Amino acid sequence: MTVTGKAKLSGVIGWPVSHSLSPILHGTWIARCGLDAAYIPLAVRPENLAGVLDCLPHMGFAGANLTLPHKETAFRHLRHCDEAARMVGAVNTLVIASDGKIEGRNTDAFGYAEAMRSSGYPLSRFKRICVLGAGGAARAVLYALAKQSSADIVLLNRTRARAEALTAEFSTRMGARITTLDWGDWTSAGAGCELLINTTSLGLEGQPTIDIDLKAFPPGMVVSDIVYRPLMTSLLVEARARGHPIVTGLGMLIHQARAGFGAWFGCDPPVELEIETVLLKAMGQTP
Ligand code: NAP
Repeated sequence: MTVTGKAKLSGVIGWPVSHSLSPILHGTWIARCGLDAAYIPLAVRPENLAGVLDCLPHMGFAGANLTLPHKETAFRHLRHCDEAARMVGAVNTLVIASDGKIEGRNTDAFGYAEAMRSSGYPLSRFKRICVLGAGGAARAVLYALAKQSSADIVLLNRTRARAEALTAEFSTRMGARITTLDWGDWTSAGAGCELLINTTSLGLEGQPTIDIDLKAFPPGMVVSDIVYRPLMTSLLVEARARGHPIVTGLGMLIHQARAGFGAWFGCDPPVELEIETVLLKAMGQTP
């Protein structure tokens, strides 16, 4: 596609940024939608983030994505953030209005809920859900659950105090029904569980695999892993072998990106199998 002087601009701000899949994802969508637009990688050192954020409106950007290590810093720097960003404590998407006002958003919760819905498992259908992890991704998943389901949630994290803090916060601020359990208490976690969600980094390339006893969980339970490198984590491989329906983490990545794309470029991008293939090839994985 030719980019003209009128092109709408966005990009991903990270340090480093070269590993990011976002330029491939948005670049593919820009081409498919035939837009006069550009989405570029922006390698920004942590000490320069505030200055770069303040400059974006002056350079004509419609917005941007933020990736590691900038999401929490951006949240603290920005004056206007949506409810999702406030509950998650991190911003992954900037939307810049024509008057230059920057809004910080967090689209991970939307991405997770949409990924589940488009896989045939809307969050509203589950009555008991087990969430593993209490980091930033867990906050986004809990926000999605609090908004879209009335399920009883059990939360397990290696560091129990972090799970207890999240339980207290989401119960008080969002009315979520959450109980904290000890990491490894699979018997209690498994009782009546209809959806198991891994939000820890266990299973990620270079990290240990998750050591969980799936025998303690009901046979028809859906297993969702938000880690997408590799696509088939050890948890998903074992779950599939045991006959559980599974949902990979790639859908969350795609749908969180969709929200920003629509806001910047005014067009809902095509979410179909082809984009998964493009991303898997970029990760060096066989589709
Ligand atoms: P984070 O804030 O660093 O949290 C990491 C979590 O993993 C914590 O709960 C941590 O427990 C747990 N953990 C790490 N090592 C562990 C171990 N050896 N045993 C047990 N628990 C362990 O990271 P995050 O931002 O939440 O991201 C977590 C994962 O989600 C990453 O792999 C990321 O790639 C993925 N993610 C995917 C998407 C997507 O679009 N699909 C979006 C966001 C994130 P402690 O509290 O005990 O340290």
